[in-house]
Amino acid sequence: MSESTATIAGVAVSTDHFIAGKRVASKGRFPVYSPVDGLLLAKVSAGGKAEMDAAVAAARKAFPAWAALGPKGRLPILRRFAEGILAHKEKLAAVETMDNGSLLAGNLHRIVPRAAHNIQFFAEWALTLEGHAIDSPEVVNHVRYDPAGVAALITPWNAPMMLTTWKIGPCLAAGNTAVVKPPEWAPLTCSLLADIAQAAGLPDGVLNIVQGIGEVAGDALVNHPDIDRISFTGSTDTARIIGQAAARSITPMSAELGGKSALIVCDDADLDAAAQTVAGQYMNAGQVCLAGTRVMVERKIAESFLEKVKGAVSHMKVGDPREPGTRVGPLITKEHFERVSGFVERAKAAGAEMMWGGNGHNFGELYYQPTMVGNVARHSEIDQKEVFGPVLNWYTFAGDDEVIAMANDSPYGLGGSLYSRSEDRAMRIAGAIKTGTLWVNCFFVRDLAAPFGGAKNSGIGREGGVWSFDFYTDIKNVSVRKDSFAQH
Ligand code: NAD
Repeated sequence: MSESTATIAGVAVSTDHFIAGKRVASKGRFPVYSPVDGLLLAKVSAGGKAEMDAAVAAARKAFPAWAALGPKGRLPILRRFAEGILAHKEKLAAVETMDNGSLLAGNLHRIVPRAAHNIQFFAEWALTLEGHAIDSPEVVNHVRYDPAGVAALITPWNAPMMLTTWKIGPCLAAGNTAVVKPPEWAPLTCSLLADIAQAAGLPDGVLNIVQGIGEVAGDALVNHPDIDRISFTGSTDTARIIGQAAARSITPMSAELGGKSALIVCDDADLDAAAQTVAGQYMNAGQVCLAGTRVMVERKIAESFLEKVKGAVSHMKVGDPREPGTRVGPLITKEHFERVSGFVERAKAAGAEMMWGGNGHNFGELYYQPTMVGNVARHSEIDQKEVFGPVLNWYTFAGDDEVIAMANDSPYGLGGSLYSRSEDRAMRIAGAIKTGTLWVNCFFVRDLAAPFGGAKNSGIGREGGVWSFDFYTDIKNVSVRKDSFAQH
């Protein structure tokens, strides 16, 4: 088989770009290794400026006809795209697991259906984008949601299929065309999505994918003079670089970034449910932006609650993400493993206590023990920085004011969870925390109609529901003087 196709878990995956409906190879390639077993999965075409120029030109050319179809014309195509994702559920799930190490069962039962829903939901919601009129004394303001143009969509490796569809769903439904830059550590399911979109009848050039290294391909994309939107999900540091490109060209940018969210357990909480949620933070080996990595427990119940959490964590099997019983899979790469263990080692040196874990797991080179760090010094590195691994911090508090101050004492503001049986108390604390999403007595429930995004260093703007369309359209007011048209 040529370098242009890799066979992954029995599935043939193109390793080349997808530009104007055709596969395009680059001279240079970069290796992609599986976190599951460390073996080489594929050598993927490494795009640069030339490939980005071709992709943006293809997207620009396809834009007028795609926009002119309107939401009703786009709906059947996008619906078939969503159906195609579901029809290829097993293949997508298996490739995603080999590509980024996420749990196969989770991919099959949650992520692939969600990816299909991302496409279908926004295609249907776009039907409501008919605009509306605001009556003024002299004029009628006709508010229109016009497609913005060509969107640059950039995604991270921890959830590539979920996040790519979360972006292309509203982007294409609103009438835009797209150039996607998948993550270099896990680019392969994105390639399958291109085939499925094409088979669904998506016109050539509406969706283009250029693989490559962030600093090269991503940089060429965000600095391209002919893009109209940048939607970025990834780290805060990269957002600072991309933001400079967006500022130079005054291109609207949406940024969904890192987090260090609080998980607050009050003394009146359902402690069994809260303990399960704490253990659940180790999912995807903690490589989850929304993870509640700062566990804050009311001092009165801290000891008994700790026992419950220990019980829940003790049942979590670390191992091969393809096996049904596994709860914690590998970290994505050796480089990332070293980053995670570096945080833990420096925390140990600074006097933090390893309540459990704190080392690599003997299952394999990239596997890390679920870890709980106690005795965390306020404003230390482990207290403030996003680790992005199975590493949680344990804190105790007395009273609402203290926990609100602790939760807000972070450069991030992405998520957060709060467990309490008192509605008044829960809503008071929730209202005082500066964050994009705060779950009360639950975790990770995400309705696509609801807004999603981060406060502080966790992001700019909101996507989801109508907020996605605010971002992916040019909202225009056609203000018409009353009685100014000839009457027939
Ligand atoms: P990253 O910032 O290193 O990379 C993200 C993407 O940006 C990749 O595709 C990369 O190739 C690209 N990129 C890198 N440099 C670039 C540049 N100069 N110009 C253009 N593109 C560039 O992030 P990562 O390590 O892939 O992902 C982990 C981070 O993503 C974590 O901080 C995590 O919290 C965050 N994340 C946030 C959300 C959210 O919804 N808020 C979701 C998932 C992950």
